[in-house]
Amino acid sequence: MSELKVEIIPDGTIIDHIPVGKWLKVVEILGLTRPNGGTLLIASNVPSKKLGRKDIVKVEGRYLSEEEVNKIALVAPSATVNIVKDYKIVEKFKVAIPDEIVGILKCPNPNCVSNHEYTKPRFRVESREPLKLRCHYCERTIEWDEILGNL
Ligand SMILES: [Zn+2]
Repeated sequence: MSELKVEIIPDGTIIDHIPVGKWLKVVEILGLTRPNGGTLLIASNVPSKKLGRKDIVKVEGRYLSEEEVNKIALVAPSATVNIVKDYKIVEKFKVAIPDEIVGILKCPNPNCVSNHEYTKPRFRVESREPLKLRCHYCERTIEWDEILGNL
């Protein structure tokens, strides 16, 4: 089956190659569940050469911050971000999980100092496949499911 062509938007961001079912998490990360969050176009369960099936999120009139891109990488490591201006893709890149994740993910250990003091949570990537992170403060390791629940 051939890959469906991603329909272009006038201006904004197309997040492609999201694992099936993860589009909602992506939309939550971007704060797009609020009114005025930007016009959203979602395509779920789209045939894909790379993934078999994929989700696509298109956001009109909105571009992503580095922090948002890093968060998306945690939820959808396979995702590609396309920046659209005037109906043309002007930039395209694959999301990447940074070596250190600061401030975007809470530590699941209730006794961790990062949950009690004014300090930003900080994690180091221990493994990428499967994704495993280690808390800089309490050394607790967190895996995929917990990462999704603590974003
Ligand atoms: Zn911790």
